[in-house]
Amino acid sequence: MLPAKDIYEVAIVGAGVCGTALLYTLSNYTNISKIALLEKNQAVALVNSHQNSNSQTLHFGDIETNYTLAKAQKVNRAASLVKNYLLQHDPQQEIYTKYHKMVLAVGKEQTEQVKKRYQEFKQLFPELRLIEREEIEFIEPKVLQGRNTEEEILALYTPEGYTVDFQKLAQSFVDNALENRHKTIELMMGTKVKKIETRADLFYIHMEQKTIAAKTVAVMAGAHSLLLAKSMGYGRDYALLSVAGSFYFAPEMLNGKVYTVQLQKLPFAAIHGDPEVHDRRRTRFGPTAKVLPMLERHNYRTIWEYFQTAGLSLAAFKSFWKILSDPFIFKYILKNFIYDIPFIGKRLFIKEVRRIVPSIKLSELQFAKGYGGIRPQIVDLKSQSLEMGEAKIIGDRILFNVTPSPGASTCLQNARDDTERLISFLGEEYTFNRERFLADLAGEESYQSQSV
Ligand SMILES: Cc1cc2nc3c(=O)[nH]c(=O)nc-3n(C[C@H](O)[C@H](O)[C@H](O)COP(=O)(O)OP(=O)(O)OC[C@H]3O[C@@H](n4cnc5c(N)ncnc54)[C@H](O)[C@@H]3O)c2cc1C
Repeated sequence: MLPAKDIYEVAIVGAGVCGTALLYTLSNYTNISKIALLEKNQAVALVNSHQNSNSQTLHFGDIETNYTLAKAQKVNRAASLVKNYLLQHDPQQEIYTKYHKMVLAVGKEQTEQVKKRYQEFKQLFPELRLIEREEIEFIEPKVLQGRNTEEEILALYTPEGYTVDFQKLAQSFVDNALENRHKTIELMMGTKVKKIETRADLFYIHMEQKTIAAKTVAVMAGAHSLLLAKSMGYGRDYALLSVAGSFYFAPEMLNGKVYTVQLQKLPFAAIHGDPEVHDRRRTRFGPTAKVLPMLERHNYRTIWEYFQTAGLSLAAFKSFWKILSDPFIFKYILKNFIYDIPFIGKRLFIKEVRRIVPSIKLSELQFAKGYGGIRPQIVDLKSQSLEMGEAKIIGDRILFNVTPSPGASTCLQNARDDTERLISFLGEEYTFNRERFLADLAGEESYQSQSV
């Protein structure tokens, strides 16, 4: 039997932007006083939340043309928490850079689609404007340079664009959590969680070098969350389609984010170009979408873990077959696979980039080697379909989060939801000051509408 002082109230597995957002929320807005954050790497956010792994965009749903109004409302509310956190905690703009954003519609079909979308979305996003050729040229000259003058073109534009270094955001969450000196907050870095087991109302979390005990657990380990869930008998109806995203670099070309219109059937953001978060002289194009049997990009030890997670069952094979045999998805996946192949990849990908910057030369485009993470897309084995968003598996006093895009944008909303859940697991003497959380991060207006 462990002495009470050795038992954590909450153990968080995984210190990406989601795990650290939860740590921040628990330590600042609850009376939970003993929290452990367990991470297999030596520093926070070295996997998908790393600056090199993702598109660095705070997604609000305004220019993501594959989002419905309902999804945009949800994502907007969530991303606004991150925006407000940044405005309060990063006055020097070391974590984010503000750029404008636009989604470019080319041709009759796309311009009609975008006009319709504007009518539907303008109330939710009052800053959103429809802009025409001349104004697009003024804001983004390269988008018009070399473009066919006959081509019909229109854009949905907003000045409200945030490019975020989610790794630095994660570090900021940890630093702010540690300010609560009256609490015991332990960071256990460089130690992989191997196994979680339950004994007498406690979780025993076995790491490489030691074991700790906790009353409740939040597994925020990206794709690994499903592996750990399955090892405990949860999430049996899920598998993962790991969709890697790569990028290409070009010299300075764009002043802000320029998106293309998204294909409706896909859960990923459309290919876009934008300046790097900390270096506006470098433009990043991407991400591509390549299916890989791995849980973490560039980490080949996770191949076997991927197959353990997928389950290797007949149900999993049937689901993958059903999803990938859709001719539209198959063609998309195949094309994206080619984008990463040396020599021919660049020659194919430049066609996508020229939809944004028509005059770009092949010599200006360079594959971003070592960049790009993996989006763990959830496959529902019961419906044999690809889920569009995140997955949360709720167990007995334990929860597991799997976070494909836009998981970094929704990290604080996710943290809020998980905090509510963990408080309910812990019992009546535990409280979450959600009014203060919302007053600090949601702003007056959202605070009122959410607390009704
Ligand atoms: C190409 C691409 C583009 C994207 N673009 C955007 C974007 O523009 N905007 C956006 O909002 N989102 C974007 N995303 C999604 C976003 O990157 C993720 O949703 C987000 O980073 C998930 O954060 P996380 O903390 O859940 O996971 P991660 O950042 O992956 O963190 C999980 C952590 O768990 C740790 N871990 C795993 N297993 C264990 C274990 N057994 N023991 C201990 N620790 C463990 C890992 O080491 C890691 O540090 C993109 C993703 C990709 C791949």
